[in-house]
Amino acid sequence: MKILLFGKDGQVGWELQRALLPIGEVLSVGRRGAAIMADFSNPDSVRKIIHDVNPDIIANAAAYTAVDMAEDDGDNALKINAVAPAIMAKEAKKRGALLLHYSTEYVFDGSGQQPWLETDRPAPLNVYGASKLEGEREIAQSGCNHLIFRTSWVYAARGKNFLKTMVKLIGDRDELNVVSDQIGAPTGAALLADISAHAIRATLEDNALCGLYHLTAAGETSWFEYASYIADQMKAALPNAKVAAIKPTLSSAYPQRAKRPSNSRMNTEKFKAKFKLNLPHWKIGVDQSLTEVLGQV
Ligand code: NDP
Repeated sequence: MKILLFGKDGQVGWELQRALLPIGEVLSVGRRGAAIMADFSNPDSVRKIIHDVNPDIIANAAAYTAVDMAEDDGDNALKINAVAPAIMAKEAKKRGALLLHYSTEYVFDGSGQQPWLETDRPAPLNVYGASKLEGEREIAQSGCNHLIFRTSWVYAARGKNFLKTMVKLIGDRDELNVVSDQIGAPTGAALLADISAHAIRATLEDNALCGLYHLTAAGETSWFEYASYIADQMKAALPNAKVAAIKPTLSSAYPQRAKRPSNSRMNTEKFKAKFKLNLPHWKIGVDQSLTEVLGQV
């Protein structure tokens, strides 16, 4: 089984390099320092690599994830989040390959308090969300065998994310204001990668499993509660270290270039039922990554 992985240096892509190995030979593509390189701002490079490799599985963990920057860089975000995935989908369809792709809860407008279902109507609030939604639609319309996992609040011990930013700020500052009116589930890149590998195996045996799924860790929290949890764990792990006091604030007091959804809750029942898998509580993965990150401090 030949697996072509795009986005090897991202949070999820890095973990996929490990998690996909038991399924087959993994050929990892990045923007630099890889044997095979592709920059999606030239989407034709994606087609060429797929031609050359002729994979059985295409895993796409690459994306334009700079949510605020995307507001002023829509064409590029669209190329990376929709045009390149559309090419992958067409190529997957041609050769009967399975395409694994990730999307986001930012396809929704964040209204209400209920966890979003796969059947709910998307209405992105920002350019990033719109470009990711377009990518999903291109893949679905291509008719290729695919798995699309919409996830949220991704973190890892490696890469740029809220968890690592908080560890740094909590150690540096006396006090920190963190938004308390956006609710979601922090989801570890390692969990996503491991679960994706399980799902690929199951889908190779049963094509009916192809489709769109919501996939996050279990439980819910606000950014404020999440930051407070990180601060508590830091206090316990490093009793003599300085730990900032965490204060709740409202999104309206913390304006950002791109609007964020308040309700990022995702209903994962479809995923759990179809793949017969459990999703662990978000604190389990956060604890593990914190141990790793604090070990590096
Ligand atoms: P990262 O931002 O960690 O990684 C994105 C990867 O995409 C990087 O390796 C980056 O390359 C690569 N990339 C960016 N631009 C290009 C380009 N022009 N050509 C080729 N590669 C490019 O993303 P995550 O691992 O966090 O995200 C994985 C998936 O999950 C994405 O589909 C994302 O939309 C989705 N998601 C992420 C969330 C999050 O909180 N991060 C939340 C919800 C969904 P380089 O390393 O060279 O910069």
